[in-house]
Amino acid sequence: MLRETGFKGAKAVSDEILRRYSVYHSPHAVEMFASRNHVSLRLMQACPECGLLVNHLNRQTGLCPRCSALLHVEEERAYNDILEGEIREAEAECVNAEREYATLRQRNARLCRQHGLATKSERKRAVRAQSTFFDPE
Ligand SMILES: [Zn+2]
Repeated sequence: MLRETGFKGAKAVSDEILRRYSVYHSPHAVEMFASRNHVSLRLMQACPECGLLVNHLNRQTGLCPRCSALLHVEEERAYNDILEGEIREAEAECVNAEREYATLRQRNARLCRQHGLATKSERKRAVRAQSTFFDPE
């Protein structure tokens, strides 16, 4: 019992003895007993994840060093998944746009051929010639 709850301090052990056995031993009596039996009453914190007793839990995660490290790896891995997903999405968008561009170019070239319409390059040339014609210089 003492080894089980000793890390919570003498007062907590005193309370636990009273709760379990309905017997009161003062915190001071608990300290004396612990000292005689070489049991530490040093305040420790139990990791809520794995139950490990440590002097201080990580202030940000509230976990022991090991569980904090594992949590950080997990968080970074999730972030990595998001980034790689965004990159894949952007790459797919680019591929789709290039595919659509190629399809439209082919379709337009076919329309020009089939209907004897001026091609894009011919139109550009015509516009350039026109602007030169109206150029006051
Ligand atoms: Zn832990």
